[in-house]
Amino acid sequence: MAKHIKHIATKLIHAGEPEPLIHGAVSMPIFQSSTFEYTGQGRYHDLRYIRLNNTPNHIALHQKLASIENAEAALVTASGMGAISTTLLTLLAPGDHFLAQACLYGGTHDFITKDFAALGISFDFIDGEDPGSWEGKVRSNTKAIFVETMTNPLLQVADLKAVVEFARGHDLVSMIDNTFASPINFRPAEWGFDLSLHSCTKYLNGHSDIVAGAVIGRADLIERITHKLNHLGASLDPHACFLLHRGIKTLGVRMQCQSESALNLSKYLENHRTIEKVNYPGLESHPGYLRACELFDGFSGMLSFEVKGGMEAAESFIRNTTLPVVAPSLGGVETLITRPATTSHSGMPPDERRALGISDSLIRVSVGIEATEDLIEDFDQALKMLP
Ligand SMILES: *Cc1c(COP(=O)(O)O)cnc(C)c1O
Repeated sequence: MAKHIKHIATKLIHAGEPEPLIHGAVSMPIFQSSTFEYTGQGRYHDLRYIRLNNTPNHIALHQKLASIENAEAALVTASGMGAISTTLLTLLAPGDHFLAQACLYGGTHDFITKDFAALGISFDFIDGEDPGSWEGKVRSNTKAIFVETMTNPLLQVADLKAVVEFARGHDLVSMIDNTFASPINFRPAEWGFDLSLHSCTKYLNGHSDIVAGAVIGRADLIERITHKLNHLGASLDPHACFLLHRGIKTLGVRMQCQSESALNLSKYLENHRTIEKVNYPGLESHPGYLRACELFDGFSGMLSFEVKGGMEAAESFIRNTTLPVVAPSLGGVETLITRPATTSHSGMPPDERRALGISDSLIRVSVGIEATEDLIEDFDQALKMLP
């Protein structure tokens, strides 16, 4: 009898699992075989080979990822950037124009600003919160629009419904980097996005032990992107597939815990006398709060804040905490803390950084699954040590 699956928590465990179980194995085995016996395939892309993204480990992940975002199809890649660059190279050709949200993940921003000119692709950045300004940027050769579910590190929420509407009105492919929200809190296909992109390195895997990516969405587009990936070769290794598959199963419980903890930590920080400002979309004081409430099922585990006393105070606070690991990246079970001016946004000229609202004293936290009380106590003792 077919399994009855309705809720995402159940899909995380059961969607895409082999039926019947392979030799009865409850956990998906790793198929560590580069090539597979020829069984009469007529097309190059159908040959079974790791680089062609079609081993049993890939197929199970593709089905699971498509299912949890309620989308038609999915593709895993060797990294989040592998997913983003392969998708953009599939959809854009010399002579095309592209619209992207101004405050993007550093790697995506660099790819667009440093590599597009040589490829003959032009672009404009847009303010995701101001749909009225987009009409002036679109051209007859514009092919796609790219936004992020929540921006890094200020957690701004673009007008995502307007993005889909605008894309439909202008015949653009709508793309969203959904890494920060994860499929638990936002499922782009349900809101009409053509493609959702992920760095599975972050929440989907959740254990800071692999680099991986995914593209999820319309089947016709995923097929074209798969063929491009087959040529470019940014395929995910079966062992990394196995770890990602294992990680995804606990995404629901991890994200629920991280969202709850981040909200409590944000509220604690917002009421502390040494804190200038807290950015978390689950706080009523956040400019995107109402939009986030409408779009998201939860607000995720990312927050940022400014301490009074500038960069020195921020540095000393980070030094005085004992639980968070000082490191870039995010979405793992352990709490990570960084100052974006020195990590994710260090490549950006200081003036540009400040214009975007990223001050030198801004601290970003990726909340893990430790007890919130322990995190608050640790932050509290570190804040008490500030002058
Ligand atoms: C980390 C990240 C990426 C890049 O992913 P990698 O797995 O490091 O290649 C892209 N987008 C966002 C929002 C990210 O946080």
